[in-house]
Amino acid sequence: MNTDILIAGSGCSGLYCALQLPEDVNITIISKSEFKYSDSYLAQGGMCVLRSEDDYQSYFDDTMKAGHYENDEKSVEIMIRSSVDVLKDLLGYGAVFSRDEEGNIAYTREGGHSTNRIVYYEDTTGKEITATLLMQAKNRTNIKMMDHTTLVDILCEDNKCYGAVIRNEDGKLETVEAAYVVLATGGIGGLYKHSTNYSHLTGDSVAIALKHGIEVKNLDYVQIHPTTFYTEQENERCFLMSESLRGEGALLYDKNMNRFVDELLPRDILTEKIFEQMKADGTEHVWEDLRTIPSEELDNHFNNIVEHCRYNGYNVREECIPVVPSQHYFMGGIKVDYESKTSMDNLYAIGETACNGVHGKNRLASNSLLESLVFAKRAAHDMTEQGFETDSGTYAKLAKATDMSEYEDIDALQRYYGELVLKEVNHEGNNN
Ligand SMILES: Cc1cc2nc3c(=O)[nH]c(=O)nc-3n(C[C@H](O)[C@H](O)[C@H](O)COP(=O)(O)OP(=O)(O)OC[C@H]3O[C@@H](n4cnc5c(N)ncnc54)[C@H](O)[C@@H]3O)c2cc1C
Repeated sequence: MNTDILIAGSGCSGLYCALQLPEDVNITIISKSEFKYSDSYLAQGGMCVLRSEDDYQSYFDDTMKAGHYENDEKSVEIMIRSSVDVLKDLLGYGAVFSRDEEGNIAYTREGGHSTNRIVYYEDTTGKEITATLLMQAKNRTNIKMMDHTTLVDILCEDNKCYGAVIRNEDGKLETVEAAYVVLATGGIGGLYKHSTNYSHLTGDSVAIALKHGIEVKNLDYVQIHPTTFYTEQENERCFLMSESLRGEGALLYDKNMNRFVDELLPRDILTEKIFEQMKADGTEHVWEDLRTIPSEELDNHFNNIVEHCRYNGYNVREECIPVVPSQHYFMGGIKVDYESKTSMDNLYAIGETACNGVHGKNRLASNSLLESLVFAKRAAHDMTEQGFETDSGTYAKLAKATDMSEYEDIDALQRYYGELVLKEVNHEGNNN
């Protein structure tokens, strides 16, 4: 196969990157599962936006504080400054956001934020954004989309990427020539027993990076979300009880139904306090009280969550909900520069699999969709500036020399890749 750009991943970062590339280049998007099975679809809370210059310093400070001041300041600045543009693009593509009574875009708040600066669509913001991007991508004649197709490796020589090895829907392996490969394969939650992520998100790109000596960063920075719906079922994706519930007034209680913590603390600190409380109480969860949120707000803003609780036997208007922390987000990843270039030529990484340092040691709520989109757009513009020349001679040589038997047993390959990643994530000194 040959294409100008191969994008692995159909989450918000992969799709938006494709849409930001010129319409006369050939783009192929591959996705390990169905296109819509991405974490981007699951985002509930929303996306941060710089509402006005008056909020710049406060937004910057909140992001840095949540990240324990380990954030890359320039990345943070780029993200915040680009947010209005990204919102405009999304509106242009047809995405809808919740509005106030005057018809203006409404802003909500989540833990770690000093003010309301998060745009949202009810409690299904990610679905609204990503479904819109997916529809746009499907309508573009220059974008070819292949679902149930997995990136299993890249083809590279002398620190330059010439293409990839993919496994298609029928299990057939093939090599792909591309001027650029973009890694947009999301997080690593699939490697955990309890995670809010889809189970097929297993950090494959990070494993491929490790295999080829491509630089990675902060692989031990894994975020645990403080509040997910507690269930006794194992190996089920943990349902998120969005941070914006607490932003809108939900309270947390110990086993005696007493408050024990400031519910709006940044995620990592709140998680720690919840674990401490569970240990002191000898319980498997704490309680979240949504009765403190006005009924109308529950209906208009949190319908998906209310329904999930109802489906699982809880009426949020009458009783508290059991909640427990779960693996949620990966702050580390493949090291990239401000244009999302990895340390290997012609190879980019965007979204959760990349690490440009925006989040430091801990991500501020609702900065992830924004970061994914901002740096996906920068990658697209950078590739466009560089041009789309391929080197068919070197590609053909690498393709011919590739031993496909290495990838034939996909389960063994996934196990090997998972072990590679987890070894780094859990290296000594990591306290996650
Ligand atoms: C429950 C939940 C709620 C969230 N809420 C918010 C929120 O309110 N606000 C916010 O900012 N962030 C939120 N996040 C985080 C945010 O959704 C993600 O970080 C972001 O969407 C990541 O986008 P992405 O494009 O990098 O990856 P994803 O959207 O996860 O997409 C990854 C894609 O890669 C594909 N893939 C994986 N491996 C391979 C492979 N080997 N080959 C080919 N394809 C592959 C997958 O099939 C998928 O299409 C939430 C996350 C979760 C799980």
